[in-house]
Amino acid sequence: MEKIILTGDRPTGRLHLGHYVGSLKRRVELQNSGEYSKVYIMIADAQALTDNADHPDKIRENLIEVALDYLACGLDPAKSTLFIQSMVSELTELTFYYMNLVTVSRLQRNPTVKAEIQLRNFEASIPVGFFTYPISQAADITAFQATTVPVGEDQLPMLEQAREIVRRFNLTYGETLVEPEALLPANQICCRLPGTDGKAKMSKSLGNCIYLADTEKAVKDKVMSMFTDPNHLKVSDPGCLEGNAVFTYLDAFCRDEHFAAFLPEYGNLDELKAHYQRGGLGDVKVKKFLNAILQAELAPIRQRRAQWEKDIPQVYEILRHGSTVAQAHAAQTLAAVKKAMRIDYFGDAGLMAAHVARYQG
Ligand code: ATP
Ligand code: MG
Repeated sequence: MEKIILTGDRPTGRLHLGHYVGSLKRRVELQNSGEYSKVYIMIADAQALTDNADHPDKIRENLIEVALDYLACGLDPAKSTLFIQSMVSELTELTFYYMNLVTVSRLQRNPTVKAEIQLRNFEASIPVGFFTYPISQAADITAFQATTVPVGEDQLPMLEQAREIVRRFNLTYGETLVEPEALLPANQICCRLPGTDGKAKMSKSLGNCIYLADTEKAVKDKVMSMFTDPNHLKVSDPGCLEGNAVFTYLDAFCRDEHFAAFLPEYGNLDELKAHYQRGGLGDVKVKKFLNAILQAELAPIRQRRAQWEKDIPQVYEILRHGSTVAQAHAAQTLAAVKKAMRIDYFGDAGLMAAHVARYQG
């Protein structure tokens, strides 16, 4: 079977390190692996509107930021189709049909939706569009017959919901849709990178992010004020690694060669950790090491972004063209869906003939 990728991001802000380790970096590797016949990367503006209905300009402004972040990270329009969700109206139509296959109680049980409702204080006033966004995500994935969806851990319940919809659809209307699989980062930490405040998840909505487009100084300032171990007051104090965001980030980003380059007195991360736990290693030194690693990772991204920022019309053209390509693919799936659902009245010559026969025969 053809291997196809679909994934994306909400244009609610610039992309951050959580997106990078959770999904973006992997996407670029997969794009370049040659294993996938198609790679679709979607800017989910329609989904972002489900909890930002009153802030359309926020979405409008961030669309280009997300596109620039994509290109900066190495997504290549010659290999990947970058497109805008709202420009593919077939996705909305598929969502409408899939709604018949999902119960309200099933949506209420979705743990990600539950957590996000709490985060946004929606409780009694959940917009229907937001409540049903897992269904629209199933439409996004299946419209492109995606087999593989590289995402962070928070998206697993969405993938499960999409798989259920596919199974239900195929069972009811015949084999039509492809069941997708989530592809999580190999490194457990990267499945859900915490914020610089040590909170559960780095997230645009929580304001605890290091953005890919941050300046060198902004990254350094954020690293130097990161949450560590509140009881590690003196350098000589033993330090705790658990809940210590600086060490969590080292787990996510540090490789042995970083020691040779930036901190040669240690051979690897285990040695550094052991010293910290023993006492005698200050936070500042560890933070400076982390800063050096992040700057090395982010510098090429920043440079590529600066190049693309000089050619915004070209970025718009990439999105416009990508949206046309995506639309054509989604239209094929929608036609197959309508056929399977027996609502392809004009695609079936036998239908009218049978009705003619009923009344004239
Ligand atoms: P919002 O707060 O608007 O929901 P977000 O920061 O959660 O924004 P999304 O656009 O919802 O970002 O997520 C896009 C992708 O990035 C998803 O695949 C998600 O799993 C992944 N992702 C987001 N934050 C993290 C994180 N902290 N660690 C790992 N992956 C993440
Ligand atoms: Mg999110």
